[in-house]
Amino acid sequence: MSMTPSRRRIEAYRLKHAAEEGRVIIYTCRACRNETAFLATDVVDIWGPDMMVYEPPSRCGRCKCSGYMSVRFHIPTRFDIGALRLRRPNGVRRLWKWDVYRG
Ligand SMILES: [Zn+2]
Repeated sequence: MSMTPSRRRIEAYRLKHAAEEGRVIIYTCRACRNETAFLATDVVDIWGPDMMVYEPPSRCGRCKCSGYMSVRFHIPTRFDIGALRLRRPNGVRRLWKWDVYRG
């Protein structure tokens, strides 16, 4: 059995599924080796439940190189408690949307 998911499964796998499975999404830049981990349940309301999580961002937020990002998934275990560094929403940053004047 192949460990590589099929293209079809990749397209069907969305952020909401990663959140349901309690996964950590880890983005790595192969140019600067920067690694950022997000808890799917933290970001599902920010990035949207239907985001295609198998598609990494096109460019690195640190070195700004394009085309070097990769993504992998991790299921946290008890060994991660207190050890796994996560990038988490700080609760201060507000999310903005466009809306019309409602009087
Ligand atoms: Zn980078």
